Amino acid sequence: MELWYTEYQTKNLGLTARIKETLFAGESEFQEIAVVDTHEFGRMLVLDGVFQTSIVEEFIYHEMIAHVPLFMHPNPKTVLVIGGGDGGAIREVVKHQSVEVAEMVEIDGLVVEVSKKYLPEISVALNENHPKLRLKIGDGIKHMREVESKYDVIIVDCSDPIGPGEGLFTHAFYQDVYKALKPDGLFVQQTESPFFHQELIKRLNKDISSLFPITSLYLANIPIYPSGLHCFTLGSKKYDPATADISRIPQNLSTRYYNKEIQKSCFALPNFIQDLLK
Ligand code: SAM
Repeated sequence: MELWYTEYQTKNLGLTARIKETLFAGESEFQEIAVVDTHEFGRMLVLDGVFQTSIVEEFIYHEMIAHVPLFMHPNPKTVLVIGGGDGGAIREVVKHQSVEVAEMVEIDGLVVEVSKKYLPEISVALNENHPKLRLKIGDGIKHMREVESKYDVIIVDCSDPIGPGEGLFTHAFYQDVYKALKPDGLFVQQTESPFFHQELIKRLNKDISSLFPITSLYLANIPIYPSGLHCFTLGSKKYDPATADISRIPQNLSTRYYNKEIQKSCFALPNFIQDLLK
């Protein structure tokens, strides 16, 4: 029997993959979790029916959410990842020599355990218990309320704005993020598709720019996400992407998507996205 899996990306459109094998299917206190093996994308993590990552193309998202903000900051030492239970973002963060502490606050311990077992290529820093890593299983929203002037860079590697991730897309959360950052800190968040989530992107941009003097959006092509075109929104207290010192990026950084040119070019926005942000 053939088994196909569809993520409904809008009410009328889906991404469907033929499944070789379902490796895990279960439910945590927060969400339904599955790992399916597919033909084109290999093993994929699915949360509440939404494809989160796949071993074939995960490098694009994880390199872009980590290296762009980390190379905008001249000397990031203390970094926080909120969410990111598959471990891909933290794997990229610990590649930075300047980083001394890489904290991760993920609400769902089962996502971490499942990723460690079925997605070892992505979760490598979690599996090795990397010396820079401080992993806390807890709510990132609550964690943000409790800290002050602690982080150089915060990376919000969250799922969609429904369920446990909903509060990560609010003005109140960005106020707490601002407070949790050092006076020259910056943060980035995955902010969905500029095709399908325009109202959300507009609102977030307004919220973030009401707090942060520098707010920018950057792009990457992520094959498994709705429309393929994905954006990240950045709020910065001091450093501007236009003046980032790209000579700091080492030639031997082991990345497959990210490079010096992309650090600059990912901020170039098509007219329809510029119009969206006006
Ligand atoms: N790259 C993915 C994407 O955009 O589809 C996101 C990857 S990661 C798996 C998202 C993680 O955020 C999930 O593991 C989820 O449990 C976690 N998460 C959601 N809400 C959270 C919260 N309030 N605090 C901490 N982690 C949260």
